[in-house]
Amino acid sequence: MNYISTRNKNLKITPCQAILQGISEDGGLFLPEKIPTLKETFHQLVSMDYKDLAFTIMKYFFTDFEEKELRNCIEKAYDDKFDTPFIAPVVKKSDVYFLELFHGPTLAFKDMALSILPHLLTTALNQQKSNKEILILTATSGDTGKAALEGFSNIDSIKIMVFYPQKGVSEIQKRQMITHEGDNTRVIGIEGNFDDAQSGVKKLFHDPKLREKLEQNNILLSSANSINIGRLVPQIVYYFHGYLSLLKNDEIHFGENINVVVPTGNFGNILAAYYAKKMGLPIHKLICASNENNVLTDFFQRGEYNINRPFKMTISPSMDILISSNLERLLFEISGGNDLLTQKLISSLQSKGTYTITKSMKEKLEDFYGEFAQEKEVYESISKFFQNTGYVMDPHTAVAYQVYKKYQGETKDNTKTLIASTASPFKFGKSVGKALGLKLAEDDFEMLSEISEVAKLEIPKNIEELKNKKILHPFSCTKEQMQEMVKDFMKA
Ligand SMILES: *Cc1c(COP(=O)(O)O)cnc(C)c1O
Repeated sequence: MNYISTRNKNLKITPCQAILQGISEDGGLFLPEKIPTLKETFHQLVSMDYKDLAFTIMKYFFTDFEEKELRNCIEKAYDDKFDTPFIAPVVKKSDVYFLELFHGPTLAFKDMALSILPHLLTTALNQQKSNKEILILTATSGDTGKAALEGFSNIDSIKIMVFYPQKGVSEIQKRQMITHEGDNTRVIGIEGNFDDAQSGVKKLFHDPKLREKLEQNNILLSSANSINIGRLVPQIVYYFHGYLSLLKNDEIHFGENINVVVPTGNFGNILAAYYAKKMGLPIHKLICASNENNVLTDFFQRGEYNINRPFKMTISPSMDILISSNLERLLFEISGGNDLLTQKLISSLQSKGTYTITKSMKEKLEDFYGEFAQEKEVYESISKFFQNTGYVMDPHTAVAYQVYKKYQGETKDNTKTLIASTASPFKFGKSVGKALGLKLAEDDFEMLSEISEVAKLEIPKNIEELKNKKILHPFSCTKEQMQEMVKDFMKA
């Protein structure tokens, strides 16, 4: 299987190269030449555990990995770092099913992919018999940062730098990052929002001088953001796993369609669901849920992507994004693999902040439904759902639930529906506490025990410990200083 770039389909590279490089030199994103269809039947898949399923799916994409190598990566990733052997359990509440993706070490769904990406990277590096050191540059809206630090800590020959928006992450998210131990890590708050962090990192990738400088020091740049195919592919697995769990529990019958709702920011998670559908997973609608930064809602409803609007800080900060990078892969797909057209649309986004897709591209979006939830609705949603079911949703998951209710109201569609539940409510203590009408404390930490009491859940240990940990990364910089920070960290 070859990988091509969304901006140049004549460029063909191997899976290992795509994982190592992260992003194409032409600025495009890598994707498989053709999305494979599964040969296994669902009767075969249904008896597999998470690891076997992961192997079955990933082997279609990482064709230059030996079976032993890939199984080894999977074995190291999905172990007792997760607090349940099911890895991603499905929980039925009221009329929906939650696919809980937050049982990993950092309590958000980024762990699902970032626990395996480091192993994919080191395997790829070994295969190339490279003696280079890898520097991972990562922009985070809050959750990727810690999950990447956790995944990459103390892995030989890899260093990692994380840039987060100083004012755009929750208190818990911030503390998780700045207290992180590990000599090969550095965390830096930047003055700006997530889009600033992300565009800053992309700029570093495309700075030929920096690359050259690092090259001289035998350092290869790569990315832990969901633009890396090594992060996207592992995310396909849990959609199959969710469907199979419903089958196992007799909630659906073989071949039955389901809907999938995904709270969306950078468009990585929902793109993985779209790939799952293309591979043969019976999905009826892919419901793309946004918060008040509703660029994607307009895109799906009108075919126009337009970031000329105010950036809003919401209680679902991991979705506070205007430029959803992974949408470029969807553009390539719905244009019938037209790299020139994809490039044209992206350049228009870069120069004018907007583009409009063609009529035939728009027609290919009928798999999707896009809507958004207002802040007030998110609070209400958390509160009402808790009153009815005793289940506490985090604000991101609540955005998804609220959008699903809008969808159902509009369409009366009764298809069984799986909601991607992307974070633990403990990670967003203050907002969740406010929604539930709890006595509000000064900081997130003091909210934890109250939430624990009403939700009848134990406070996750990883979060409780944070309060007393030492701050190891007091660093901050402007967008312009990012390059200096890299050189400084790498002593280059
Ligand atoms: C990252 C994140 C999202 C958004 O996922 P994308 O793949 O960027 O669309 C949603 N919820 C939580 C909790 C996240 O951490």
